[in-house]
Amino acid sequence: MKQRIGFLMGAAAVIFLNGCQREQAMILQSPDGNVSVQFILEDGKPFYAVRLEGETLLEPSPLGLVRADGDFTGSLKPISISRLERITDEYTMPHGKQSRIRYQANRRVITLENPQKQRMEIVFQVSNDGAAFRYQFPESGEQTSMEREATGFAFPRETVSWLHPMHDSKTGWEKTYPSYESHYEIEKPVGRPSPFAAGWAFPALFRVGRTGWVLLSESGVYETYCGCRLGRDSEGGLYRIAFPQADEHRGPQDPVAPAVRLPFASPWRLVIVGRGLETIVQSNLATDVAEESKVKDTSFIKPGRAAWSWLRYDTAGTELPVLRKFLDLAADMGWEYMLVDADWDRILGYDRVAELSKEAQNRGVELILWYNSNGDWNNAPPTPKNRMHLPDVRREEFKRISEMGIRGIKVDFFGGDKQATMQLYREILKDAAEYNLVVNFHGATLPRGWQRTWPNMVTTEAVMGMEYCTFDQRNADRQPEHACVLPFTRNVVAPMDFTPVVMSRRIRGVRRVTTPAFELALPVIFESGVQHFGLAPFEAEQLPDFALEYLKNVPAAWDRTRFVAGYPGKEVVLARQKGAHWYVAAVNGENKTKTLSPDLSFLPKGCSGLLIKDGPDDTLLSQTIHERPDSAQTFQVPPYGGFVLHVSAN
Ligand code: CA
Repeated sequence: MKQRIGFLMGAAAVIFLNGCQREQAMILQSPDGNVSVQFILEDGKPFYAVRLEGETLLEPSPLGLVRADGDFTGSLKPISISRLERITDEYTMPHGKQSRIRYQANRRVITLENPQKQRMEIVFQVSNDGAAFRYQFPESGEQTSMEREATGFAFPRETVSWLHPMHDSKTGWEKTYPSYESHYEIEKPVGRPSPFAAGWAFPALFRVGRTGWVLLSESGVYETYCGCRLGRDSEGGLYRIAFPQADEHRGPQDPVAPAVRLPFASPWRLVIVGRGLETIVQSNLATDVAEESKVKDTSFIKPGRAAWSWLRYDTAGTELPVLRKFLDLAADMGWEYMLVDADWDRILGYDRVAELSKEAQNRGVELILWYNSNGDWNNAPPTPKNRMHLPDVRREEFKRISEMGIRGIKVDFFGGDKQATMQLYREILKDAAEYNLVVNFHGATLPRGWQRTWPNMVTTEAVMGMEYCTFDQRNADRQPEHACVLPFTRNVVAPMDFTPVVMSRRIRGVRRVTTPAFELALPVIFESGVQHFGLAPFEAEQLPDFALEYLKNVPAAWDRTRFVAGYPGKEVVLARQKGAHWYVAAVNGENKTKTLSPDLSFLPKGCSGLLIKDGPDDTLLSQTIHERPDSAQTFQVPPYGGFVLHVSAN
């Protein structure tokens, strides 16, 4: 018989030992009692399992880490379990899907010891929307490295997945991958290998049984660790944490294994769970466990909307006459920002950008400037480059542009998740905050709770965004389905700069397959602290007044987000609230007409609203709703169509 040692602990912190002390289990429940995590030590190996209302979502799954100076994956003995602790945290976010957040969890810390008498603590926090856990090493003073993490996620048979393949390092355009820019593989059985050796990117969505949902991700990854992913292989449905590839960032110069000094706490592993998709979409777990804001005065962090010429015109969009047209658009629309993209230093130069910045500010618009992140880790030619990776140069640059009245930066092409890259992200955010600059990362990694810790990070790409729909017809063909996956995956855990809203039927020769109302719904469906619109000035001129009015008013930051209806890859209906305003938006990911009857009884009583929907022949229609839209309201949504309903409480 295998020796099975663990701890069984209920709310009353009772330790249960069977007769021969061979079998123990620890169970930690969420405040509402629905989510439970079981910790098991079997033959000295640590495991955990996750259940929701009694249904197994994760079977016993491996835990542990291998340090350069000690192995914590086996031969462990239990030392102690902390008392049950109830954690409550309240915080506000200047942007994001919810402005005021309250986190409640039950917490326990399990202390284990290896034969060398080195100790590892595993911290579990279980909230109503899932489990978060991390490893801690309490000894002090030693410098070591983390060689490998054994953490896994073992799904029951019959589980299906929505997974984002992680591109291999130093592939893609000018060797800029990995950049979290691929389509999800939709509703596939677990156990299939990733098409790439690099594995699968976070976040990863799973459906267990008919109604059990799991979203895996990580949070609290800072300069002390690398960004992780799920490894390529998942035989039997067991997915494992994997480290970056050896040639990411500067290759062999930067070690894969994070260098750490003890005491040390690892990033959080997140297992977001829900019965149905509401809990997944509305979860704030990624920010709940992230470190609190390090930016003391956040008054410069203004969420907003931005005009952006590059999507339509590439670097020709950086010519002054084109930028002036986009500035007119931003000013007319009351948008807060305009993004000046690649090669501005060569095409315009600093002096003319300074003049443009002044001109923009006089019209209530602030500028965001593009930068290439490198360094020598990619071959991407766009400039300015070599201004971001050296601390002195970067700070000098930030000083210079902040004196020009520039409000933000977009930094592109990072191509890696090693500790060295995490350090670069952190240093950019820290220095930018000092110069009151907001930051948008592109060609970038998934933000892992950073929007809370460094709220000047207003958005990040880390998505196969609208630009890809302009590069290749195959991507445009998949846009509707892709848009119906992102609200359940990527956008759950961090702001996402998809750059939505293109109204022309063709862009760069590629035919857009979505309807006009689908495009107009996206600024509500996709959350981004700065929403960069793909809309060109000539497209805006052709829009009906009600659509322009909507684009003038649609918020970029929300008090509250509600999942209303939908299924990943098929359709999605979301509602977001800002003050007295509710926006209910829907997009249809499939090539067939749908009749949607979402329950809208949560809308304020006695409200009036405007519904924007698809008309015949690629047009937009509006309809005023005077009565309270109730659950009897039905919406006809054409193939790849959508609608958006703006309701304000009277
Ligand atoms: Ca990109």
